[in-house]
Amino acid sequence: MPKHQQYIGGEWVDSLGSDWWPVHSPATGELLAEVPLGTSADVDRAVEAAQKARRILAKMTVFERSKLLFAIADAIAQARETIAHDLAQEQGKPYQQEALGEIDAALDMWRDAGEIIKHLNTEVLPSSDPAKRIFTIRQPHGVLGVITPWNFPFTIPTEYLCAGLAAGNTIVWKPSEFTPLSAIHLLRCCERAGLPAGAINLVIGDGATVGHAISSHPGINAIGLTGSPATGDKVARAAGAKPMLLELGGNGPTIIMEDANLDLAIQRTAVGCFANAGQICDSTERILVHEKVHDQVIEGLLAAIKTVRLGPSLDVASTMGPLNNEHTAAKVDRHLADALAKGAEILMGGGRAEGFPTDLYYQPTVIDNVSADMLLNREETFGPVAPVLTFSDMDEAIAMANDNDLGLVAGVFTQSMERAIYMGEQIEAGIVNINEVCTYWQPHTPFGGYSSKRSGVGRLGGKYTIEALSQIKTLVLDTSSSHPL
Ligand code: NAD
Repeated sequence: MPKHQQYIGGEWVDSLGSDWWPVHSPATGELLAEVPLGTSADVDRAVEAAQKARRILAKMTVFERSKLLFAIADAIAQARETIAHDLAQEQGKPYQQEALGEIDAALDMWRDAGEIIKHLNTEVLPSSDPAKRIFTIRQPHGVLGVITPWNFPFTIPTEYLCAGLAAGNTIVWKPSEFTPLSAIHLLRCCERAGLPAGAINLVIGDGATVGHAISSHPGINAIGLTGSPATGDKVARAAGAKPMLLELGGNGPTIIMEDANLDLAIQRTAVGCFANAGQICDSTERILVHEKVHDQVIEGLLAAIKTVRLGPSLDVASTMGPLNNEHTAAKVDRHLADALAKGAEILMGGGRAEGFPTDLYYQPTVIDNVSADMLLNREETFGPVAPVLTFSDMDEAIAMANDNDLGLVAGVFTQSMERAIYMGEQIEAGIVNINEVCTYWQPHTPFGGYSSKRSGVGRLGGKYTIEALSQIKTLVLDTSSSHPL
């Protein structure tokens, strides 16, 4: 049974604590490994190593940092299949259909950050005083604390790690305790690529201990968190006024208007509901359908669901794996039970699937007659559920989409250009995809929660992440002694 260590100051070291966390596969129930449950003393050590390494990073030019990022991408490419195998086992997603793609997406992000940093110019600004020259330079925040979830255990950390390093930060990273093996693989790739000691430090542990110690540590200069809105609140409270990038939950409304291309809308909406077993922050969490096309959409969804192959992660025929953990599965149970009690109708699926090695396999589900007061509509469900609500005109659809405290990504299907633009402007979400589903995102484009909602603060994606994880300094130079006026 592999027993793993923390990675601090360029070395694999034992945790200062004595507790261990068993990593079970949600697909097979098998015990895959044991990892240390870190302590706040581990975080202290990691912060000290990261603070020390700031000097090394500060001496590297952006071109050297870029080379390092490309070398890390190459190391990931070499280990692609091994990482995807372990990721599929610990996360639950299908190896062939999704895990390999996650590694490839991460690879692109490392290379992209390596490219972007070489071209990220700053400005020379006009001056109201003829003797002054004013320009800006970009500097790192210092030591970045990164806290990440289990649903994309390789790409989500990559978003912060590649951009954070590109910007010249050093990093203390806590992955989700549910998916630490992907994190260990990522650090091994960084190590093989020549990462300077202390530039990224991995502290495995739980949120209340290690996550809290990172957020509140005076030696952590900025925070990057992807997680639930409740965790976002806790981290923000603990971190105080540090610079922060918070990527939190969503409740993706997908609106299907009466003039939509229905084949396209149904096919893309099904992808939005069932990809990664619905465990994506920008999943289609609720489908708002115009009453005139309701029956066709239901019929289409029921046909689409038949193509979903629920099965173990390593079975090449699987298109959807189990949910990652019991907490998540229990939430789906709770949301469906609430909907049934309030009058919704399950048309397909509706509960745990039988005949699999664990109780975490969830039937892809279509549920109709969902109403505004149901948890399925109000909260993020994070499971393979397609909840259908109906509306009778565009304004009602917009009001239903906006009547929610989350606002990350929305989708609208319509063939009217006027409607597309109007709805795109009115819907309160960080991204509105037109004739495309919520889950669609190109990783170099800005992604994040809408202000006034609880889906996060700031934007990540390509240069936007590098900007968020760095600061602009203004330099003012007086030239009057050499150029008398
Ligand atoms: P979570 O909030 O439970 O955990 C996220 C991370 O925070 C984990 O590493 C956890 O250990 C840590 N954590 C928990 N409590 C903490 C605390 N008090 N202090 C510091 N750290 C703490 O979320 P999860 O269940 O791992 O992931 C699912 C959530 O993440 C969903 O809400 C999903 O929408 C969101 N998410 C958002 C995005 C995005 O880009 N906006 C992407 C993926 C997931």
